[in-house]
Order: sequence, then structure tokens, then C-alpha cells
Amino acid sequence: MGFRGKVVEDALISCGRHCSLCHKFCGTKMELHHIKQRKDGGEDSFENCIPLCFDCHADVMQYNPDHPKGKKYTLSELKRHRDNWYDKIKNSQGNILPNGSYLDLDKKTFERLQNLLDSKGLLFFIKSNGFINGAFPDKICEDIYIYQQECFLPEFEFIDTDLEGMRVTLTEQLRELDILIQKHTFDASTRTESRQSIPKEWSITEPERYIKAINDFEKLTFIIGKKYDELIKLGRRKLYAN
Ligand SMILES: [Zn+2]
Repeated sequence: MGFRGKVVEDALISCGRHCSLCHKFCGTKMELHHIKQRKDGGEDSFENCIPLCFDCHADVMQYNPDHPKGKKYTLSELKRHRDNWYDKIKNSQGNILPNGSYLDLDKKTFERLQNLLDSKGLLFFIKSNGFINGAFPDKICEDIYIYQQECFLPEFEFIDTDLEGMRVTLTEQLRELDILIQKHTFDASTRTESRQSIPKEWSITEPERYIKAINDFEKLTFIIGKKYDELIKLGRRKLYAN
């Protein structure tokens, strides 16, 4: 048995889904640790629960008393870290702002990212999976390329580690999308417009290839849309919600 129901929910709300030790935002990548181990009689209670990220959880669990390295977390210390963090979340009304002067820098990066991906409708096109609905303008590929170019600039980064982690993931996924476009679509230009398309004739001549192309696009565009929304939501909370 482990933590269940209301205990899990109360703990996740109390920590704001941030690790109680390193304070990183974890989203779903979060574990609930028994402060006093169950084998030592620890209960599945809110009082005995501390939410941790994977790394900190491994750290807390890994300490080997036979080969002490570093300083072990004591039970009371874990409790105090947790209570301090719960207090901070409670008093922040959900806004955990990055401290320091990099807020302005991160706002600039945030606006730049939104501009590159959203202002020209690229994200809308990705979210509505325009790749599988017939020919699409070359401009879409260009916009993805321009975003990737921007990523080569050293200043195009978030100082905030949570946001930067999400930006890097999103960038990798857009690179994958670029590879899919090269693999699955071909020139379908008209006299007036440069376009790309999954060749329609594949549905008859190479049905497996056709279905794979559609599935690949559907899967990846869904993930990209979700990741983008997560980044925008977290960015708004971290950078603007004060
Ligand atoms: Zn942590």
C-alpha cells in the first residue's frame, strides 16, 4: 500500500507540484516519499509524506550508512524542508516567482518564443495537424526553420531552469517535425504557390507508408501542441503573475 486518495491530492496541492527539497517544478514527474519508512512503522499519512522530484528522491533513498558519503537527510530535517516549502506555496497564492534580476531577460525570451511560434499561426497549424489535410504552404517549413535558427543564438534561452528545460524539449520536438516533413511530404506546388504534401497517390500505391505518415504527424503534432501550452502556462505564471 502507498499514499492514496486525499493524502496524495493534499500533498500535491500543498507543494504546488514542486519538489520540497530543490523546489523544481515537476508536473507529473513527482514522487511521494515516506519520511519514516513503512518498514519502520511509517504511515501512509499526510504528515509522513514528502513530495520529491526523481533526483531528490533517489538522493534521499540512496544514502548507505555503511559507506557514508555526504550528509544524510534526517527525518526531522525532511519534515522541516517540507513544511517550509508548503508554507511558501501557501503564502505565494500559486505564484512562485523566480527571484533575481533575470525576470526581464526571461520575459524577452518568452515573448520572442511566442512571436516566432504563434503570431504567424504556426502553432495553430501544428495543433490542427494541417500536415495531413492535403497540401500546405512551404511557409510552414520556413517558419519552423526560422525558429530553429533562433535556437542557435546563445541569448535565446531562459535563465529559469524549468522554462529552459521545456524550451529545449519543444525545440527537439520541432526538429523531429522537420525530419517528418522531409521524410513524408513532397513538392506539390501550383503555379502560384509553393506547397508540400503527403502524396495522395500513396493511399493507393503504398497504403502502409501513407498510414504511417499520417500516424507520425498525428502523434508528434499532438505532443508539440501540449508541450507548447504547458510552457506558455508555466511561463505566464512564473514571469507575469505578480
Ligand atoms: Zn528535487
